[in-house]
Amino acid sequence: MSKIIVTGGCGYIGAHTSIALIAQGYQVVIFDDLSNASEESISRIEKITGTRPELCVVDLKDKNKTNTAFEAHKDASAVIHFAAYKAVKESVEQPLQYYENNLFSLINTLVAQQKFGIKNFIFSSSATVYGIPESCPVTENSPVKRPFSPYGNTKKIAEEILEDNSNSGFSTISLRYFNPIGAHKSGDIGELPNGVPNNLMPFITQTAAGIRKKLMIFGDDYPTKDGTAVRDYIHVMDLAEAHVVAVDRLIHKKQKENFEIYNLGTGTGYSVLEVIKAFETQNNLSLAYEITERREGDVPIVFASTELAAKKLGWRAKRDLNSMVKSAWNWEKNYRKENS
Ligand code: UDP
Repeated sequence: MSKIIVTGGCGYIGAHTSIALIAQGYQVVIFDDLSNASEESISRIEKITGTRPELCVVDLKDKNKTNTAFEAHKDASAVIHFAAYKAVKESVEQPLQYYENNLFSLINTLVAQQKFGIKNFIFSSSATVYGIPESCPVTENSPVKRPFSPYGNTKKIAEEILEDNSNSGFSTISLRYFNPIGAHKSGDIGELPNGVPNNLMPFITQTAAGIRKKLMIFGDDYPTKDGTAVRDYIHVMDLAEAHVVAVDRLIHKKQKENFEIYNLGTGTGYSVLEVIKAFETQNNLSLAYEITERREGDVPIVFASTELAAKKLGWRAKRDLNSMVKSAWNWEKNYRKENS
């Protein structure tokens, strides 16, 4: 059974990926500093999979502690690196915290991997590196631009570091996420942001749950079908399964380049209003919302070309928008019931 180290495995995407890895027979060890996620994720993963992943609480910004954690798991076959801060607005207010956390953690992880001979690495990147794309669907060859936020820039810089560090002895796959939403079908795990959500789907589910008064739609004067911005929403379990495919590719030495990049999206763009409509229809409720000004830095339209991932990884997203909005609400409802 191959051991995979999942950094940030208590977070939203990391936990769903851990579930998908365990389902495919991998042994998962989670490295997490619990700064933005809870240890409860471990019990939730156990409830769903029947297997409790080992948790190693470690601050990857600390080089010595990182080395100690890796030494104990030097038999791992690969690392999937999710550990990072991800709030765009916060990164504008506190850029150094973002550069320090996201880049020191990355470098310490890579140095420890080099030290202990763990040669495979999967990186959690973002479509934010495309900035405002010249055309859609966005292919992996589209020019990378300086992202609007320090958060986004940490992803761009990280990819540059990874490209330089990848060679015949070290293989990397960078996965550029579009907009992950939804939850595991059990409703036992899902997205749980700290404080007021910045992202659309948790804001929708919290509004439906009565925690937020109403959803603000940021702009209805974009050049799109209904004036609201268009994104490529992808079910978090599809995203999780793509990581398992990428791990298989590295472990079985199927990759063609030492550094590969893949978009993870569905290839279909939906507007904010279409997401709201799907949420209301599928869950049989109505949502309070209001149109307000555009949010600074928002891109009008982004959706992925999924051809490269289909061709090289043999992976395509399977779940549709209805399944995303239903699972997101199922999780929110369950969670609020548990905690009422
Ligand atoms: N959005 C919105 N209201 C919100 C949060 C988001 O209208 O409270 C819109 C946002 O302007 C964007 C889309 O929803 O067009 C997705 O935003 P999100 O922050 O989830 O992801 P992004 O693509 O910006 O990373």
